[in-house]
Amino acid sequence: MPPAFFHADFKARPFWWEAHEPKPLPEVTLPREVRVAVVGAGYAGLNAALELAREGISCLVLDANEPGFGASTRNGGMVSGGVNVGKRYLAKPMSDEEASPYLADAADAFGLVEDIIARENIACGWTRAGYFVGAWCKSHYDAMAHKVEVLNRYARAEAQVIPPDRQREEIGSDYYRGGMLIGRGAHLHPALYFKGLLDLCLARGIAVASTTPVIGLTQNGAGWEVTTPRGTIRTGDVIIATNGYTGDVTPQFKRRVVPVGSYIIATEELDPALAATISPKNRSIADTRRVLTYYRKSPDGRRLIFGGRAKFGQTDPVETAPVLYRFMLDRFPQLKGCKITHTWTGNVAFTLDEMPHMGRFDNLHYALGCNGSGIAMMSYLGHQTARKIAGRVNRVCAFDRPEFPDHPLYTGNTWFLPWIGRYFRARDWLDRRAG
Ligand SMILES: Cc1cc2nc3c(=O)[nH]c(=O)nc-3n(C[C@H](O)[C@H](O)[C@H](O)COP(=O)(O)OP(=O)(O)OC[C@H]3O[C@@H](n4cnc5c(N)ncnc54)[C@H](O)[C@@H]3O)c2cc1C
Repeated sequence: MPPAFFHADFKARPFWWEAHEPKPLPEVTLPREVRVAVVGAGYAGLNAALELAREGISCLVLDANEPGFGASTRNGGMVSGGVNVGKRYLAKPMSDEEASPYLADAADAFGLVEDIIARENIACGWTRAGYFVGAWCKSHYDAMAHKVEVLNRYARAEAQVIPPDRQREEIGSDYYRGGMLIGRGAHLHPALYFKGLLDLCLARGIAVASTTPVIGLTQNGAGWEVTTPRGTIRTGDVIIATNGYTGDVTPQFKRRVVPVGSYIIATEELDPALAATISPKNRSIADTRRVLTYYRKSPDGRRLIFGGRAKFGQTDPVETAPVLYRFMLDRFPQLKGCKITHTWTGNVAFTLDEMPHMGRFDNLHYALGCNGSGIAMMSYLGHQTARKIAGRVNRVCAFDRPEFPDHPLYTGNTWFLPWIGRYFRARDWLDRRAG
């Protein structure tokens, strides 16, 4: 028996796919030779390809599935420009000075996406409505005054602390202990942003080979032989842009990124008066809980799109929907009785230092490790990787570092994730109990 809150039209697939569903493209003839092969057709891969094409460098984008099959058409569509950078739960926290170059790049990443959408006229509901972060407990709230100062100093965040007595101006809930507002925050329709990038690639003659997995990479002199079930391509450079879907063809990256499932539900269309109570200023909203939740209204303002780490690891999103529904009612009791029409999941990629990375390893270029926030960051790292190949980098991107940590006991098997989930839940419980 499905839960009573499943709508009659319930679907276990992304709500965003109602507007653009990833589909195989007409088959492209694979070239024998191309200057750059891009592995992975998500935000990172397509932004890399567009910048390479702008520089007059030939490239071929290959995706194992339909382009956009990965996180790039499944995410929450919330863009923050720095608030999540260096948010470390397990790795050693960074000092403000250490964090500053990364925050500057994160601010540039926000600007890059905003510019592309405006310049290329991508109709994806880009709305600069700000981003509210709810404090899960008093100690998180107390830390926000300093966080706001750092975000304003290094990431141009237009941030401010919102005390508990002003929280209702931001969110129709008393669930948090106050919070902070990031003025330079936005939301968009993730699948339409992706479609805009894909349409641009195709209009500019960039070859995108769908359902063409890269199954072998062999160094050949200064270049590479890229093997697919449809043939082998000789290339000068290869960019790995596979993030949470990184597989066995690149074991050196598989052991450096940890794929983690993130889960979302979408409500039915709500009564406009009820929808207005949720987020009176149409903000993106997230919280400081370790078992994070994040949410925003749909672009038409009628539904709540509510996501979170309902389970650590990958599970059937139908199983996690009741957990998310409960999290949603904890925050918005006024939604009791509303039905959900969609639930879905996708993979994000965590790294062992909880930071995004780009660079060159074993002679392969890579842009990997969104750590949960990648609309702006992965677009930016793909773009920066292409600029680097084109020899156009004016200053070194902070995320382009020689060290990309691994662990001798991790080769890609994520058996330990449920234990991290239990640890996070216990820490959250203790924090909340303290105030
Ligand atoms: C549920 C969810 C909610 C999220 N919410 C937000 C949010 O609100 N804000 C935010 O900023 N970020 C969010 N993210 C993160 C964001 O979606 C990702 O960081 C971003 O989409 C990653 O883009 P990408 O191009 O690096 O990878 P992806 O879009 O994941 O693309 C990787 C591609 O690589 C392909 N691939 C893998 N192996 C091979 C191979 N061997 N050969 C060829 N192709 C291969 C896959 O098929 C896939 O299409 C969320 C993610 C999820 C899953």
